[in-house]
Amino acid sequence: MLISGMIISSLSLFAQNTSNTAGQPSVRLYVFDGGILENMDPKSFGLKNEEVSTTRMSAPCYLITHPKGTLMWDTGSVPDTAWTYTGSPVQYTFMEDDYRQDITLNKPLMLQLKAVGYPPANITYLALSHKHFDHIANANDFVNATWLVRQNELDDMFPKDSAGVEKPSNYPHLRNNKRIILDTDEFDVFGDGTVIIKSAPGHTVGHQVLFVRLSKHGNIILSGDLYHFPEQRPLNRFPGREFNQEQSRDSRLTIDLYLKKMNAELWIQHDFAANLKLRKAPEYYE
Ligand SMILES: [Zn+2]
Repeated sequence: MLISGMIISSLSLFAQNTSNTAGQPSVRLYVFDGGILENMDPKSFGLKNEEVSTTRMSAPCYLITHPKGTLMWDTGSVPDTAWTYTGSPVQYTFMEDDYRQDITLNKPLMLQLKAVGYPPANITYLALSHKHFDHIANANDFVNATWLVRQNELDDMFPKDSAGVEKPSNYPHLRNNKRIILDTDEFDVFGDGTVIIKSAPGHTVGHQVLFVRLSKHGNIILSGDLYHFPEQRPLNRFPGREFNQEQSRDSRLTIDLYLKKMNAELWIQHDFAANLKLRKAPEYYE
C-alpha cells in the first residue's frame, strides 16, 4: 500500500510539472473559500428582492498553477490574522467608516493554500480583480509574488493624499512587492495564451478579469465584479456605486464578445449558488 501511494504521489508530481497528454501545458485551477458575504441588499445592485434567489455571496480566491509558475487571483474578504479558526463557521463583521458587512468564515486562506502545497510565500504572481475589501484581504501575505497591476488601480490603492475610501492600511506590504504594470488590454501571464488578464474597467478604474485555458474542463473567465448576482447578467443591471457605469456597460459587452471568441464560460465570482457547486481545493480543475 505504501509503495502504491508513493507511485501515485510521484505520478501527480510528474503531472504537475509537465505537459498533459494533449501536449498543452498542464494548467490547474484551485478554488478557495474567501468567506461568504451575508444579507447582501439586491437593491444596491440594481435588483428587486424578488429577482434574486439568495442574498448570500461567495468571495472566492483562486490559484492557477502552470509549469512556469503560479498565479493567485484575489485573496479573500477578511485577513486570516483578524479572526480565529475554530473548525466551525465563524461570524465576522467587517467595518470601514459607516460601512458594515457580515461575513461567514470557514477556513483561513493560508491553511487552504498549505493543504495544496503552495504556501503564499512561494507564489510567483499576485493579481487582484480590483481593490475592494472582499478581494484584497490577505494580499499582504504574498510577499515574494510579483504583483500584476494596472497603473490607475495602483494609484487608486495608494493615493498621494488620504482623501477617498481607499485603505492602504489593508495592504501595506503591497508597496514593497515586485511589480509588473499592465499597460495592455490583455496580459499573457505565462506567455503561452493559457492564462490572460484582461482589462474590464468600470467597477473600479483598473478592474480586470482572468481568462484560464483548462484542457479538460474547457475555458473559463473569472469575472471579478463585472457582475455580482447572476440575475444581473440577463437583465443588465448595475450596482449603484460603480466607479463609471458607462465603462462597466462597455466592459460587459467587450467581455461577452471575448467569451465567444475564446469559447469560454463566465464564472461570476460572487454567485453563491454557482460557487457552491464548484469543486473546492484540494480538488482542482484542469
Ligand atoms: Zn466583490
